[in-house]
Amino acid sequence: MNVPTILGIPFDANSSYLRGAGQAPPLIREAFLCDSSNLWSETGVDLGGEDVYIDSGDLVLSEANAFTQIETAVEQLLDDNLRPICLGGDHSITYPIIRAFSRKYQQLTIVHFDAHPDLYDEFDGNRFSHACPFGRIMEEGLATRLIQVGIRTLNAHQKEQAARFKVEQYEMTRLPGLDALRQHGPIYISFDIDVLDPAYAPGISHREPGGLSVREAIRFLHAISGQIVGADIVEYNPTRDVDQLTAMVCGKILKEIAGKITTSD
Ligand code: MN
Ligand code: MN
Repeated sequence: MNVPTILGIPFDANSSYLRGAGQAPPLIREAFLCDSSNLWSETGVDLGGEDVYIDSGDLVLSEANAFTQIETAVEQLLDDNLRPICLGGDHSITYPIIRAFSRKYQQLTIVHFDAHPDLYDEFDGNRFSHACPFGRIMEEGLATRLIQVGIRTLNAHQKEQAARFKVEQYEMTRLPGLDALRQHGPIYISFDIDVLDPAYAPGISHREPGGLSVREAIRFLHAISGQIVGADIVEYNPTRDVDQLTAMVCGKILKEIAGKITTSD
């Protein structure tokens, strides 16, 4: 059985609009463990069993060296044959995470849930902005395939970037594309909470109406087949949350991803 390993990455210095996502990791963990529910995933995995998952705590980051620290920490988990689920943090953290993954997995497929393609070459003068991680990842050849689900903010530049990198995009206007998620591994899941409709998850910096319901997102997660080697859950911003609603959604998504990793190849 594979061991999912939670790693908190409290970093939001590359947010273009609002900070706050750096406060998310302990709150996601608290919601995940909340006694209002149990620790069984819907796919039938009891995450509360002994040693079913590991919690590696939260990184202590310095803003200047954060990307190096993130990459090193993820690399150590991968060296121990664990399967990291990183809790952001803003989406810029996916770039150093994938740098570590790409050394272990040369043929990585990324399944990316997001309202936004995050493919900008630069944003507000910052090439490491949370609007750019998949531009960097694809430019450096760190993943073989990028499959994006839930997109609803495409502009001309990001369409060009998507074509340049042969990104497989499933915009909200043409969902569902469940068959596209039946892949051979290794697969990395990058889950930006703003892929969900803000009605379900208001605690995010960029509220983009017209998104997935929690149920639809879970259906997509369950439809992913193949070896899932890691994941991240990013962009939860507690300063924008309403009565911890979004924290509970993050806890649920974490549970379902952890359950999938446990039983994947
Ligand atoms: Mn994003
Ligand atoms: Mn987004």
